[in-house]
Amino acid sequence: MQEVEAHRPSLAANGRNPTGGLLRAEQLVALVPATAIFLVLVLLAALLWFLDGEERETRRINLINDALWVEQALRFAIQSDQDDLAQLAFDIGHGVSLQAAQDRFEHVVRNSPEIVGLAWRDATGAVLMAVPGNFSDRSNAGADVVDRTIALATQSGKNRFSPVFSASDDSNVFELAIPFYRDMAPAGLLIARFSLDSLLANQVPWWVAQRYQVTFESQDGATLSQKSKSIVASGLGRHAILFDPPGGDLLLTVAPFNERTDIAGYALLAAIIWFSLIAIASLIATRRNMRRRSVAEAALREEHAFRKAMEESLTVGMRARDLDGRIIYVNPSFCKMTGYDAEALIGRTPPMPYWLPEEIESTMELHQMVLDGRAPREGFEIKFQRKDGQRFDALIYEAPLIDAGGRHFGWMASVVDVTERKNMADMARRQNEKLAQTARLVTMGEMASTLAHELNQPLAAISSYATGSLKRLEGGDIPHADLNDNFGKISAQAQRAGQIIRRIRAFVRKSEPKFEWVDLNAVITDTLDFMAADLKAHRVTVDNRGGAAIPKCRGDQILLEQVLLNLLRNAIEAMSGTDPAERILSIRCRLQSAEIVISIGDRGPGIAPDAEANLFVPFATSKNEGMGMGLSICRTIVELHRGRIWFRNRAEGGTEFSFSVAVGQV
Ligand code: ADP
Repeated sequence: MQEVEAHRPSLAANGRNPTGGLLRAEQLVALVPATAIFLVLVLLAALLWFLDGEERETRRINLINDALWVEQALRFAIQSDQDDLAQLAFDIGHGVSLQAAQDRFEHVVRNSPEIVGLAWRDATGAVLMAVPGNFSDRSNAGADVVDRTIALATQSGKNRFSPVFSASDDSNVFELAIPFYRDMAPAGLLIARFSLDSLLANQVPWWVAQRYQVTFESQDGATLSQKSKSIVASGLGRHAILFDPPGGDLLLTVAPFNERTDIAGYALLAAIIWFSLIAIASLIATRRNMRRRSVAEAALREEHAFRKAMEESLTVGMRARDLDGRIIYVNPSFCKMTGYDAEALIGRTPPMPYWLPEEIESTMELHQMVLDGRAPREGFEIKFQRKDGQRFDALIYEAPLIDAGGRHFGWMASVVDVTERKNMADMARRQNEKLAQTARLVTMGEMASTLAHELNQPLAAISSYATGSLKRLEGGDIPHADLNDNFGKISAQAQRAGQIIRRIRAFVRKSEPKFEWVDLNAVITDTLDFMAADLKAHRVTVDNRGGAAIPKCRGDQILLEQVLLNLLRNAIEAMSGTDPAERILSIRCRLQSAEIVISIGDRGPGIAPDAEANLFVPFATSKNEGMGMGLSICRTIVELHRGRIWFRNRAEGGTEFSFSVAVGQV
């Protein structure tokens, strides 16, 4: 796992270069539409700016034209008044009664609203008549200006306009002095007063007043009169024309109102900007999305590479099948195990090419069991055949394949090649067998003298029966019945000797464990029989409490005898120092839940506390001639029978060794 972890960064680093390159290329591609939109925006702005300039220019020209038109209109009005007044002055010069003059004055003031006053002065300057009556009072504001104008007109003999001045009612006005003559001699002056306000109010037409603010200003910028008080647009400019006559410093200015309400234009511009911003924002979002996607893709690629590396480093074969048993996936390890390519396996339905040809039927049954969900949870072993014909043992664990929606869609098997493991286990087993056999031989060697003694008894009996019979035959006095009896005894003893030898042969024979139904009570009796001579030699009394009804169990008779023999011999040896009257060996055999327990108790010294830990360890012995293999072999044999072995020191002294054997199948 650590190794895999260590590979991760390098995988990531390998994947980063192409990914980085891709990212840059994608970023550049994503920039193109953004740049295009930006350029369109700039061009639009330029176009709008250009159109705005054009419009401003048009409006400026219109303004100048209109301003000139207003000037002309005002001048025309003043000129026309001037012509009328000149006619009036001429008429007065040629004799008009005061009453007639007054009528005509009133007529002029009524019909020409810009003329707010008229006065008739004689050659001395005295006011003969004025409309309105107080028009030429000396107390009037601007009297000086008027006097100067009168003086100038009188001197020059020509019409003269006064500069603009403020009248006593605060209105800005100017006056026109028209000298007239009688019989070629100056006869007086006609003075007409023009109001700037009235001039603007009456002579500027409505369509101009609607669009422009028309103002009379002094040169220093002071407003003298104004048509309309509306607010003027600040940025749209104005046009000023020197309005001379009447006053040398009078300016006529025309300024457009802020009438431009090009809402549609602004709305269009705003919409274009708004949509462009939305387009740019969505582009940015798309780009971010793309970047996130490429990061996710890179992570996915990395994950894929990681999985692949893991998959390739797996020594366990993986094989997935759908619910119909069709192979949908195999990993490289499985391919290596079977020798078939993934292409050759994926899509295959049973029988599979790696099944043993002679076991197609049983394998098919097993296959069906897996598909039915009845495969053993702890896995099962099976033999497979590689493409090259070589066979191997596979340990298979099957697990259901569940998709993201929780649907069961197949079976995943992990396949482990256990050939090597099995070979090793076989070897270990064989070695154990060999060891057990050697131990049996050693035991027999150790028992040789007692066995020889035991064998000697029937042989000696045969010999004595034979010798006795021969002697009596030689004497010729043996009755047929006695001879028959003697031969019977000889035969029985020979059989006993043969039985002893057979048992020794069986005990030391080299064979694989052979499991069969075994009656443990019989095994105990047989072993005790076998050891009868030994027990007798050591003056040991046996207290066999077996014989109770216990079920038969599966086991190897010889191996179980070997366990008993070892334990009995250890017990006998342990009691060598015990008083012969106390040398009691107790044997018990009982059924405890699902196992049969056999206990062998002695009256020896018990096990020393420091020896307890190493008791079942090979070569641990306290005896001079001991090998220390006995208990270790006993444990191996007992475990082979799915049992266990243990001991306890008895309260009354001595040790009790017990072992169990599972009831039922091994
Ligand atoms: P060996 O008999 O060759 O020594 P074993 O493995 O059979 O080898 O026994 C190991 C040791 O356990 C013995 O040397 C002995 O010290 C001790 N032992 C075994 N059985 C008994 C017993 N019944 N009482 C006392 N000690 C025992």
